[in-house]
Amino acid sequence: MSALEKNDPEIYKLVKAEEAYQRATIRLIASENYTSKAVLEACGTVFQNKYSEGYPGARFYQGQVNCDALETVAIERAKKLFGAEHANVQPYSGSPANLAVYLAFAKPGDTVLGLNLSHGGHLTHGSKASATGKWFNAVHYNLNPETGLLDYDEIRKLALEHRPKILIAGHSAYPRQLDFAKFRAIADEAGCILFVDMAHFAGLVAGGAHPNPVPYADVVTTTTHKTLRGPRGALILCKEIHAKAIDKAVFPGLQGGPHNATTAGIAVALGEAMLPSFKDYAAKTCANAKTLAGELVARGFNLVSGGTDNHLMLIDLSNKGVTGKEMAVALEKAGIVLNYNTVPGETRKASDPSGIRLGTPSVTSRGFGADEMKKIAAWMDAVAGKVGDDAFLTGLAKEVEALCSKFPVPGID
Ligand SMILES: *Cc1c(COP(=O)(O)O)cnc(C)c1O
Repeated sequence: MSALEKNDPEIYKLVKAEEAYQRATIRLIASENYTSKAVLEACGTVFQNKYSEGYPGARFYQGQVNCDALETVAIERAKKLFGAEHANVQPYSGSPANLAVYLAFAKPGDTVLGLNLSHGGHLTHGSKASATGKWFNAVHYNLNPETGLLDYDEIRKLALEHRPKILIAGHSAYPRQLDFAKFRAIADEAGCILFVDMAHFAGLVAGGAHPNPVPYADVVTTTTHKTLRGPRGALILCKEIHAKAIDKAVFPGLQGGPHNATTAGIAVALGEAMLPSFKDYAAKTCANAKTLAGELVARGFNLVSGGTDNHLMLIDLSNKGVTGKEMAVALEKAGIVLNYNTVPGETRKASDPSGIRLGTPSVTSRGFGADEMKKIAAWMDAVAGKVGDDAFLTGLAKEVEALCSKFPVPGID
């Protein structure tokens, strides 16, 4: 990055500082990951310089010979990796991808049914704070208060009562696998579109560690930057019969030209996700989550649903005498980075809720294993009892940094 260093030292310094930060801290943010150097390089190419409104072979601009080839490679890899009939690789990110699905299948005022935000759903699944909750009549299903699990009978009941245009499956904070056959049966009975948002677990699907929704759903969206370990962007996968509606919704319905350099990075990430090593990565990500969950439960942490069978955990800290925010802020001081989160049946406000969310995609990319999971659980337990003890927390940050120094960071080291 010699040009950046020379021409804009202020930004160069920030990039270097962020590299150092990502190296020296334990990142447990369930939605983050480390892309490879190859992905980073692909994102920083002259494809940044191109405008390509339209789709390969049907553009509104001349000069698309290489952009057409690039986008075609990305589309074919996405279809092959997930077994999809059709793929659109142009959405700028997960939220616009989801908006495109609404645009394709619903009109303002139509009813949609998705998982409640405070039970692990996403803003774009009809939250009142989101355009999707303002423009559509959003109805929500909750987790079972006893088990912390999805209640398919309840989802069916709501679907038959409200007759939504779209049934949404998928989440940002649900620690269990989804039963897509059950969702499909409910959508068929209610006569609606089944839309699966696999933003969080797409990498696990790609690596064979989570069931694949693509055979069951009318349409599947995913971000490319979470477990899938690519650049920030999104994909929409759908049945051939919906291809036209989805493509028209993305462009010209919602977006202008695609971000071609990001498409290059997505293509590289999809290629990486096809390698045997990615199967290993997906399995290890889940194994690490299981180990960490077990260690935390053994220390009295209250995990929603009692554990995990994907890459993430949601913890209700009420019994530990700390709030989610107090814990997250204290952990950050100790070099352990995660986010505070609402929990099912939340009684506090979203800006200082009762829980935290954490996941293993990033630390697994670094090569952390069972020993490191045990260490992290012990550290979290210690921090829960010392959230106000800055000397302890900054001391712990040194230990965290020493551990991190043994694990090279993909894309940085
Ligand atoms: C992260 C996420 C999104 C949104 O992705 P952005 O790229 O942040 O817009 C959508 N749906 C789910 C379930 C997510 O977890």
